[in-house]
Amino acid sequence: MAPRSQPVSVVTGGAGFLGSHLIDRLLGEGHRVIAIDNLITGNTANIGHLAGNENFHFIKHNVSNFIFVPEEKIDYVFHFASPASPIDYLELPIPTLKVGALGTHNTLGLAKNKKATFILASTSEVYGDPLEHPQREDYWGNVNPIGPRGVYDEAKRFAEAITMAYHRYHRVDTRIVRIFNTYGPRMRLRDGRVVPAFIGQALRGEPLSVFGDGSQTRSFCYVSDLIDGIFRLAMSDFHEPVNLGNPQEMTIKKFADEIIRIMGTKSVVEYKPLPVDDPKVRQPDIGRAKKILGWEPRVSFEEGIKATIEYFKESLNR
Ligand code: UDP
Repeated sequence: MAPRSQPVSVVTGGAGFLGSHLIDRLLGEGHRVIAIDNLITGNTANIGHLAGNENFHFIKHNVSNFIFVPEEKIDYVFHFASPASPIDYLELPIPTLKVGALGTHNTLGLAKNKKATFILASTSEVYGDPLEHPQREDYWGNVNPIGPRGVYDEAKRFAEAITMAYHRYHRVDTRIVRIFNTYGPRMRLRDGRVVPAFIGQALRGEPLSVFGDGSQTRSFCYVSDLIDGIFRLAMSDFHEPVNLGNPQEMTIKKFADEIIRIMGTKSVVEYKPLPVDDPKVRQPDIGRAKKILGWEPRVSFEEGIKATIEYFKESLNR
């Protein structure tokens, strides 16, 4: 049991990429943390360094089913569980829909029951293939509900809707963070997302698989910057959605060229078909986060990518 003054946080998806980094930050801030994960895309290796930490507890559970946490006092519920790469949505369409919908309902119920603050990990995917650029929080998006990505996009849009409903109807203290492309250590090398894909290919001396003509853009945020924004948002009293991401935008072709340059590899670019509904542009407007949280990214692209490359090199050797 935590002393009464020690904050207690529940993190769903705690063995995942973002969840595990968030846990490190919360423990560093003096929280007691209960991680919940069913390990379908998460991995206990991401939290292995916490074994034996008396402030950390892990529960293997699928949060799309009823969640029982014995602790009487819970201060924060961070709902970060979800498959999160386009390949995962294709392989796990129904678990993706369920964790965004049923999992959000269950975690909101837990927050309501324990009178905890609820923080939803939402996504830039709520903007779909955006017709406004950069994306501001008041843009409603352009989403194909029945396409292959719809399982994630619509689940997260439902998650935002039910979060606001619990806020307005049940007076739950809620936050919504719309997370843009984030990268860093603990991503899965083969999760299909562009950062691990290109670094993995370069390390193996394979061609870099650029989808389409590579003119689509993304904006990449280093994980420590993102986690700092999430922590600030949790500690704020702001209930509307907040974009968090790095506004530095580049084409995917340019990103491939940068990986080749930084890694000094002989890999070449190989063009592959563009996935269905792949957004053509994506760049966060972070004006709201700057104003409300005093937050903006600090880690440069080169610095973040080098740290990520080091992580993947080490994990290949393990
Ligand atoms: N992409 C690519 N090659 C890959 C993986 C992804 O060209 O091996 C492209 C993908 O089509 C998209 C961008 O990189 O335009 C980012 O893809 P990712 O899967 O990382 O996430 P998304 O931003 O689409 O959710």
